Amino acid sequence: MRTIIEPFRIKSVEPIRMTTRAEREELLKAAHYNLFGLHSDDVLIDLLTDSGTGAMSAAQWSAVMRGDESYAGSPSYYRFEAAIRDLMPFTHIIPTHQGRAAEAILFSLLGGAGKNIPSNTHFDTTRGNIEGTGARAHDLVIAEGRDPSSLHPFKGNMDTDRLIAYLDQHGDSVPCVMLTITNNAGGGQPVSLENIRAVSDIARARGLPFIIDGCRFAENAWFIKSREPGQADRAIRDIVRDCFSVADGMTMSAKKDAFANIGGWLALNDDALAERARTRLIQTEGFPTYGGLAGRDLDAIAQGLAEIIDEDYLRYRIRANEYMVERLDALGVPVVQPAGGHAVFIDARKFLPHIDPLHYPGQALATALYLEGGIRTCEIGTVMFGRQPDGSEIPASMDLLRMAMPRRTYTQSHCDYLIEVFADLVRARDSIRGFRIDWEPPMMRHFTCHFAPLA
Ligand SMILES: *Cc1c(COP(=O)(O)O)cnc(C)c1O
Repeated sequence: MRTIIEPFRIKSVEPIRMTTRAEREELLKAAHYNLFGLHSDDVLIDLLTDSGTGAMSAAQWSAVMRGDESYAGSPSYYRFEAAIRDLMPFTHIIPTHQGRAAEAILFSLLGGAGKNIPSNTHFDTTRGNIEGTGARAHDLVIAEGRDPSSLHPFKGNMDTDRLIAYLDQHGDSVPCVMLTITNNAGGGQPVSLENIRAVSDIARARGLPFIIDGCRFAENAWFIKSREPGQADRAIRDIVRDCFSVADGMTMSAKKDAFANIGGWLALNDDALAERARTRLIQTEGFPTYGGLAGRDLDAIAQGLAEIIDEDYLRYRIRANEYMVERLDALGVPVVQPAGGHAVFIDARKFLPHIDPLHYPGQALATALYLEGGIRTCEIGTVMFGRQPDGSEIPASMDLLRMAMPRRTYTQSHCDYLIEVFADLVRARDSIRGFRIDWEPPMMRHFTCHFAPLA
């Protein structure tokens, strides 16, 4: 069948409100054309992020009621630990309030001035937590992973030749090797099981811990099952266990592939390192059987993990993105191929070639999508990366628009509506104008800067 069936029915709904074009024009002006400044109830379809924005199931809401709020030794913690260990066979499982808290604890122990930490591509909070300790973070993704038009099936793979050369060059200054599955900063592209094993072999041969940033482990396992030779008949759970059984630890945001609105964890095998991590946890997050979470959150995550590996869900999840990519491609919209696991990316520089990169084609497209259709997306380009430490500004390597898909939240008709809005933008693209930045903070300007439309 070609129709995408959402493998759930809806028991509880949240109204979304259509605004008029005239209202949206005023709302944009009031937000200085920065979409982070909008109130979310003025947004019809919110594709700003897939983090913590998914819908919990009836079983998860039931688990919330079962949550036990004891300070120490809560049964909720033991259900959380068992659910994780069923998929990821680590010795020590340490709850945190988000993924970045797990990173902060890990790199407070492994980072520090003079250290060098490789990954396929570090996510921005991971990079921030590494660099915050004075260490340096390096991205060693394969060349195809940086080419928006490459159809490589595993564009998130680490370049193992570069990794070996990197480890030879940096020697003792490397405390661990990381790998992000799927590769979020690289467009949600997957990493093959073969590559995970190869990276593990290289790290372990040198006695280095191999740490997986596993935020989208289930989407990654679906790509392995559907694309990697020999994996098609295997259960998702078995593929997931294979991925993590060659690792020495993981960091996780439960706001992604655990269907939760908050939460995360750090897992480790090394007893001494885990002991130090728990001491740090008590300082910054909480007692080791709750971390930064309520008991009810631990139970929601435990139940979410049982649901995320469902094949009907994963098929629908990945197929929905492919559907958008196919339809947008047919309209002549330059989409990044193949579709990633959690988002659809548009090459805004190619879509709006009349807008100079220093006039922010990604921002121009994001603003036009909101103005025409009430859809909120996110620029990943020169606004986000263009400002240099010396104050100068240069175009980012790409100007992309990211449409991140919240889990189990929107339906195929929401996607069809979005495609219709794009059809209008294709016709009107020549009239879309760029922006200049009127005001910006010293760092991470994309969240708060003020734009002014160019005439
Ligand atoms: C979201 C994310 C993180 C950080 O997790 P938070 O829960 O947002 O703190 C780390 N790595 C990757 C790959 C992510 O997508």
